[in-house]
Amino acid sequence: MHERASSLQYLKGVGPKRSAALEAIGISSIEALLHYFPRGYLDRSTIIPIAQTRLAAGAGEPVTVIGEVFRSEVRRSRRGRRPIFFLVVRDSSGFLTCVWFEGAEWYRKAFEPGEVLALSAVPSFDSFGRIQFVHPEFDRLRGSQEEDEPDWGRMVNTGAIVPKYPSSADLAKVGLDSRGFRRIIRSALALADSLEDPLPAEVRDQFKLAGLGQALRNVHFPSDAETLGEARRRLKFDELFHFQLMLALRRRRHHDERPGIPFALESALARSLTDALPFALTGAQRKVIREITGDMQEPKPMNRLLQGDVGSGKTIVALLAMLIAVDNGYQAAFMAPTEILAEQHCSSLRRLLGDLPVTVRLLIGGQKKRLRTDVLEDVRTGACHITVGTHALLEEQVAFARLGLVVIDEQHRFGVLQRAQLQRKGSDPDVLVMTATPIPRTLAMTVYGDLDVSVIDEMPADRKPIRTAVRLESQKDRVFEFVREEIRRGRQAYIVFPLIEESEKLDLKAAAREFQRLQSEAFPDQRLGLLHGRLSPEEKDAVMQSFRVGEIDVLVATTVIEVGIDVPNATVMIIENAERFGLSQLHQLRGRVGRGADQSYCILIADYDKIRPRAGAAEHEVRREQQAAKRRLETMVDTTDGFTIAEVDLELRGPGEAFGLRQSGMPELAIADLVHDKEILVQTRHAAFGIIAADPHLRRPEHEGLRRLFDDRLREQFSLGSVG
Ligand code: ADP
Ligand code: MG
Repeated sequence: MHERASSLQYLKGVGPKRSAALEAIGISSIEALLHYFPRGYLDRSTIIPIAQTRLAAGAGEPVTVIGEVFRSEVRRSRRGRRPIFFLVVRDSSGFLTCVWFEGAEWYRKAFEPGEVLALSAVPSFDSFGRIQFVHPEFDRLRGSQEEDEPDWGRMVNTGAIVPKYPSSADLAKVGLDSRGFRRIIRSALALADSLEDPLPAEVRDQFKLAGLGQALRNVHFPSDAETLGEARRRLKFDELFHFQLMLALRRRRHHDERPGIPFALESALARSLTDALPFALTGAQRKVIREITGDMQEPKPMNRLLQGDVGSGKTIVALLAMLIAVDNGYQAAFMAPTEILAEQHCSSLRRLLGDLPVTVRLLIGGQKKRLRTDVLEDVRTGACHITVGTHALLEEQVAFARLGLVVIDEQHRFGVLQRAQLQRKGSDPDVLVMTATPIPRTLAMTVYGDLDVSVIDEMPADRKPIRTAVRLESQKDRVFEFVREEIRRGRQAYIVFPLIEESEKLDLKAAAREFQRLQSEAFPDQRLGLLHGRLSPEEKDAVMQSFRVGEIDVLVATTVIEVGIDVPNATVMIIENAERFGLSQLHQLRGRVGRGADQSYCILIADYDKIRPRAGAAEHEVRREQQAAKRRLETMVDTTDGFTIAEVDLELRGPGEAFGLRQSGMPELAIADLVHDKEILVQTRHAAFGIIAADPHLRRPEHEGLRRLFDDRLREQFSLGSVG
């Protein structure tokens, strides 16, 4: 039976209101409902008696108790205004008070005496030293009067594993709190075995995966930890497999099945450039150039990612590729995420090119109308060989005469769609995307899963590793003395501030104030410059130019300098409030120094006491954030290796945050986890790419289920066209 579209209304306990509420969160079929996974489970091993909460208070970790509502009340706070809600629950070992400082009116009506709840929180003490739960997360296990559902509380106590479901105020309003979901999902599970299992039997056998119906039953109501584990493995597999299938199809469509430009590699321009370079290319640079030119030669569009740590020398590699395109009579476009970076690229390309007859033009927002018209004209006629720019390149008015190569710098700042947009300005041009954010290999399989990957894994030989240290706010005087010394030796320095205030305006004020103070107190005899996001392109350019030619000793900046800035004589990077920065940001900032032959330094100034994850954060949250900040800074001191840093970042923040997965067109994962499910990820990649290679249009009978899945759901989910 083909149940995928089966309506929710058939389900017991789901009427029009509930089905509308479910529809609003994207659940419109039995199948989708069965893929609404628990956010956690209650089982005996995770629950402690109330009497033990006191002991657990020291650990700072959340614990769960199961208790019956004993009584509740609303009291006013001492100053009289704010109502506070108190709830007392009990189990056979004792009583526990729970407190809500917000929403008292709502909670007052929320609980009935006799109802059984699972409550989770980090235990804390009230002002009398009594243990309490503040704002616990709760889950109703049994109503005050028995209905036609099991007593979940008792089930947990007799060893069952009970699912907890995510909910929201809107869902709860129609009775779909965790308990409501337990009931309707339990009745929906009767239909689990009638769902078609689209995963080919061969794949299921190869990876010893449970059937779909069985996996769904066991992910919701497992009999033990082992069956739950098997169920989760199958469902994670599905999730990652669908994504890989999409990548495999996308790759076929954009690469294997398209005619590309077969560039001739012999290029007089490229040869003159390499001959004129003041340094020899590293082995790694030569290796990636071979990989890139190999692609360019092929009559298929190149789709390649160039990874290389900050300072590894990606720009020259990109330029050589662009020169090959130019010598073949094509144009190249070079897109960067910020204006500063685009300007920087533009001037360093011009510098590298010297007298070579290659026209490089800059296209960014906020340029004077005359200039812009002029640039657009040159791009349109083909007089401009290399166009460097920001998002401005994507605008409709930008038309190329003959675009043959697209280079995108700091790819993670752009989305897949933007990449495609620029690509469409030519007819199947080659695409080279570059990133200095090293991505663990397995993750690259998802984020950049439809690209070939080249890695520059070697730094130019003359580089000395940057020395990094952490200093406290109180040691700043000595840090500044060190900076003055370096300046006396002819070097330059950066002092970077994080975005401090919510609004850019306030932030600017803070930066300006700090700048004044630095100038008058710490660096009265030095030349300081200020760079921030609100300057006009001309102003930014002027400041950068003065810094580059050494007219400024210390560049005080907000994080606008994070990517790409290249001033080899700058040897000191001071980062203020370093505890606020993420690891990859710190790594990028540090990469601004150590770009020449001199010893460079990075000093991270930390103020751990100021750490607040958010207003009103609980003690343990603050402590956790402090620990994370320490870990970040220690990692920076311990290593300059981008890949190691990326791994720690991934661990601390998760892939969505750490690597901008959202930009990559990757859907939120409901059950799989890219940090811990690497093995499954690799399996799904082999399986999916294998299937598409053998049966690109999913026409074989054993792939019928997949094809239907694709037509029904995946195509839309991943905004793909047809399989063909
Ligand atoms: P990134 O990979 O961070 O974009 P760049 O391309 O900006 O790095 O290169 C950083 C600096 O190193 C530049 O000043 C560049 O001229 C220089 N450089 C590039 N390749 C080499 C090399 N093989 N030897 C020495 N210096 C190099
Ligand atoms: Mg760069």
